Amino acid sequence: MPGVKSAVREKLDSVRGALVDLSHRIHAKPELGFEEEHASTWLCELLDQHGFHVEKNVASLPTAFVARAGSGPIKIGVCAEYDCLPGIGHACGHNLIAAMSAGAGIAAARIADEIGATITVLGTPAEEVGNASGKIVMLKRGAFDGLHASMMVHPAPFEAATMKIIAASMFDVCYHGKEAHASAFPELGINAADALTIAQTSLGLLRQHIRQTDRIHGIVTKGGDAPNIVPAHTSARYIIRSDNLEELQELRAKVRRCFEAGALATGSKLEIQGGDQPYAHMHHDLGLAAIYQRNAEALGRKFPDLGPLRDRVAASTDMGNVSQAMPAIHPAIGIDSLPAVNHQPEFTAACITPAADQAIFDGALAMAWTIADLASDPSTRMRLMTRP
Ligand SMILES: [Zn+2]
Ligand SMILES: [Zn+2]
Repeated sequence: MPGVKSAVREKLDSVRGALVDLSHRIHAKPELGFEEEHASTWLCELLDQHGFHVEKNVASLPTAFVARAGSGPIKIGVCAEYDCLPGIGHACGHNLIAAMSAGAGIAAARIADEIGATITVLGTPAEEVGNASGKIVMLKRGAFDGLHASMMVHPAPFEAATMKIIAASMFDVCYHGKEAHASAFPELGINAADALTIAQTSLGLLRQHIRQTDRIHGIVTKGGDAPNIVPAHTSARYIIRSDNLEELQELRAKVRRCFEAGALATGSKLEIQGGDQPYAHMHHDLGLAAIYQRNAEALGRKFPDLGPLRDRVAASTDMGNVSQAMPAIHPAIGIDSLPAVNHQPEFTAACITPAADQAIFDGALAMAWTIADLASDPSTRMRLMTRP
């Protein structure tokens, strides 16, 4: 093992500059979900240069790709994300995920045949879109078929081997009413903005009667056109989350009634779009997570005991859906960002610091070493290759 692991490290050392450059380029040109033309092209170019067989336009998604190296029987996937958030750029650090996963793939490919593995880097677009995202569509259309395990590492304020990942559903709500002069003929109007107000009031009251682990959050995306026109068309975008998909179903029914209340009270028409392809909760493969943690600790990474904070800091990702289909891990890697946290512009700034650049190297190496370990340990290899 020492020989294999040092070969992996040497290979990663040789591409360190290219990975940092890739991360900074993606950061400087943020692209929204399913529009990541530059990021996916740059990733494919780099992987191609390092001997990967690259297939683009996977699952009929123009910015998805699959890149393979090696030909061994155990097949390991590494997921690269590269979409940004609207308005605040790479505030979730997906530029780092892209570089880390490319680096892990390139470094692991160096020893793929020695350890009897096939390495697949999957370019998975649009993690932030909240419904029918890249991995969900790719899973459905077979892009993950044949893999024995998948992994990725996500930037965060602090290290965690198994961060709490809960189920989530995003959907758009539209109300359709009737315009009228707001002063002269208000009795002829049907107020779609009032419908939204009633729904939001109902949701506020509902909060007393949901699980502590449930979450409801949203924004108004259209509130009307002018104060002297009774608003006829309003809309909002909401995300609801629960510990798992079953509890999410229960929450969904309660939330739906709140939106129906708005329509009933005002006489407007309710329309709900999306929410049909939710993010699943994450089933962490604890064996693989432990191997990852051991390798990250060997690089000097410290995993704090988060205590109750671990459950409080819950997020959602379509890697949860991958974890329902095969053994998977999604550790968090610290980039020394505090007090800045994910989805803040200050976190965007933290994603190109020296600490962030170091996380690319450490995360990539810890993943590549994890691949070396899981392929070389007979019992782990057997477990992954023979699961039902
Ligand atoms: Zn995010
Ligand atoms: Zn993210």
